[in-house]
Amino acid sequence: MEMFQRLVEHDHEQVIAFNNNASGLRGFLAIHDTTLGSAFGGVRIWRYENDAAALTDALRLSRAMTYKASLAELPCGGGKTVILLHDGLRRQEAFADFGCMVESLSGRYFCARDVGIADADLAAIASTTRFVALEPSPDLGDVSEHTAIGVWHGMRACLEFAGISGKIRVAIQGVGSVGLLLARILRREGFDLILADIDPARVARVAGELGAQVVRADEILSANCDVLAPCALGGVISLNTVPGIQARIVCGSANNILAGPDAGAAMAHRGIIYAPDYLVNAGGLIRGAEYFMLGRSESMTSIAKIYDRTRRVLDLARDRGISPAAVADDLAESRLKRPKRFSNLTWRGNPKQN
Ligand code: NAD
Repeated sequence: MEMFQRLVEHDHEQVIAFNNNASGLRGFLAIHDTTLGSAFGGVRIWRYENDAAALTDALRLSRAMTYKASLAELPCGGGKTVILLHDGLRRQEAFADFGCMVESLSGRYFCARDVGIADADLAAIASTTRFVALEPSPDLGDVSEHTAIGVWHGMRACLEFAGISGKIRVAIQGVGSVGLLLARILRREGFDLILADIDPARVARVAGELGAQVVRADEILSANCDVLAPCALGGVISLNTVPGIQARIVCGSANNILAGPDAGAAMAHRGIIYAPDYLVNAGGLIRGAEYFMLGRSESMTSIAKIYDRTRRVLDLARDRGISPAAVADDLAESRLKRPKRFSNLTWRGNPKQN
């Protein structure tokens, strides 16, 4: 694994590989960019094939967080943690150890929930650090719900841009925290739903609640629908999967939906409207940053701006003849054009307590 080659490629600031033999805690914290402020980013726990795959995930996800914060005009940068799930992991101790590591960074990194993280894990992290978005919290609200609402605003903008109205069918890949809440919003709006999840019990439960159709996990990307909403893991839209997509719009919560930039170009070539993932899934980050950094009691007005930003990105993409993904990258990078340095990001004052 050519570690520094990887860091140079996308100008990552720092990677911490952490380990604790007693608890079995192992993982990577990638801090991509703190030009705009402390690095915000979730903690993911996953059974990776090998260390290189885990590092790749942390690097890609942390970079997406920087772009997400920049495009959402937030005073924070991007980071991400991946923790290796393995049989020797003593979960509660490991998350408490991880919190100690986060605390030792004095606010340079602020973490939240991502894939695989349960309430008990967050509580264990919060037992040893202030720099975590502890949920559930009535004041903060449900972060995943804020994310789902943001995706809905982005989807509205795409539908309007495409001139699609009437009986709309949305296929959702993954009905976990965000996918479920998005499905509920769409059902309330009168949309028809097609759902898939690798957890059969979960998808059956959600389909029963919402009266939705279920398809196999390997069928959802090519489902007959107007909108495809990937809300599971990243990398699902690739040169292999683009030809099978029937949807006119791809708009979901998953981070790093595109396997690579060529997938964005391939969708544009086929006339599929793509809502850049870090643009439309920023609702949770907006809520977290506004609550913890700016002390705001609510963030719905800020999250609604995802609608305007999505319209702007789609309009610019059409006018410039490039993909929405490329436009979003340009806009995000325009706020980051300052020489990077390791600023003193010691949190001034106390982070708002959960
Ligand atoms: P989650 O773990 O609660 O849900 C993910 C769901 O996807 C699970 O039900 C899982 O069984 C399912 N799944 C996994 N692989 C699948 C596959 N191949 N086909 C179908 N289903 C599959 O996670 P979440 O918090 O809902 O996050 C979903 C995505 O949104 C992730 O990519 C995450 O990084 C991103 N995201 C989440 C938030 C948030 O606020 N939770 C914010 C921004 C981005």
